[in-house]
Amino acid sequence: PSDSNLIRATLFPGDGIGPEIAESVKQVFRVADVPIEWEEHFVGKEIDPRTQSFLTWESLESVKTNKIGLKGPMATPIGKGHRSLNLTLRKELNLYANVRPCYSLPGYKTKYDDVDLITIRENTEGEYSGLEHQVVRGVVESIKIITRQASLRVAEYAFHYAKTHGRKRVSAIHKANIMQKTDGLFLKCCQEVALKYPEIKYEEVVIDNCCMMLVKNPALFDVLVMPNLYGDIISDLCAGLIGGLGLTPSINIGLDGIALAEAVHGSAPDIAGKNLANPTALLLSAVSMLHHLNLHEKGDRIQDAVLKTIAEGKYRTGDLGGTATTTDFTKAICDHL
Ligand code: NAD
Repeated sequence: PSDSNLIRATLFPGDGIGPEIAESVKQVFRVADVPIEWEEHFVGKEIDPRTQSFLTWESLESVKTNKIGLKGPMATPIGKGHRSLNLTLRKELNLYANVRPCYSLPGYKTKYDDVDLITIRENTEGEYSGLEHQVVRGVVESIKIITRQASLRVAEYAFHYAKTHGRKRVSAIHKANIMQKTDGLFLKCCQEVALKYPEIKYEEVVIDNCCMMLVKNPALFDVLVMPNLYGDIISDLCAGLIGGLGLTPSINIGLDGIALAEAVHGSAPDIAGKNLANPTALLLSAVSMLHHLNLHEKGDRIQDAVLKTIAEGKYRTGDLGGTATTTDFTKAICDHL
């Protein structure tokens, strides 16, 4: 029976290591007494004609109704005639911004110990509009779409995020010197929004220079906002700066207040079912979800417990050079809670 004080959230455990790391999140949430009731949904075995993908209509409706969800990795089924799962979610739920916090984990040594940045990626257009065709044999064309509407929307989100999270600067990442019309429009929209936030410093950085600066001195950056393709690449680059995809969370922001948090890594078929997966990325994605729900105290407590466990170094999973199982690591987090 539903308790009216609980917030309903959709949970897609996903494939491969998904169910193992989702179990870890459920356990940590129970111990931290988070007022969330999970509504679990699974990827279908057949294509649902209403979504043209393996995601069922009911799953999509669940996120639309609850307006909040957490998603484990989903393996993309091979074969033609269906839409990719992630694309279906993005399009159907209008998930227009992908937000990835990226910060150095205390006690886990990488080349840098002062990374603290947020990448905000436009999630619906650019080179990923799915408009590719053959012009004649040997010549293909891909169309990059940039619209004022989507650019303003993501820029607005980035500045609003900066303002409400005590951030000082927003850098728009672009290649407008070459892509004058498309990236030019993106920048124009960022400039317009920047005028409304005089307290936030605004700068524009060319993508190639941005990559060089990020690997030389990531502390130079605060909030980065960019079109789809650049965001895809830069956000993985940033994950690499702090120790890899097993650690980095993300949250997708949609229209009408919808948000879907997700780990950015895949289903890791090589270690699935072996109790070896690192649940940190999904746990920290779940923390992003809690902040989105204004459950800041719960979010901070869980994040502290995860970071303490990693910093102590006694229980670390294989990807971080340790020998702990997923369950050992989760138990250590619960003990900290
Ligand atoms: P992957 O991220 O699944 O694995 C890459 C490597 O990282 C593997 O060695 C894996 O063991 C390791 N790894 C990933 N996550 C880990 C974790 N939490 N703990 C410990 N080690 C971890 O990438 P892949 O092998 O290219 O993709 C596998 C499947 O996942 C494919 O079907 C792909 O389509 C899908 N995928 C889904 C998403 C998503 O749902 N967002 C993202 C990427 C890939």
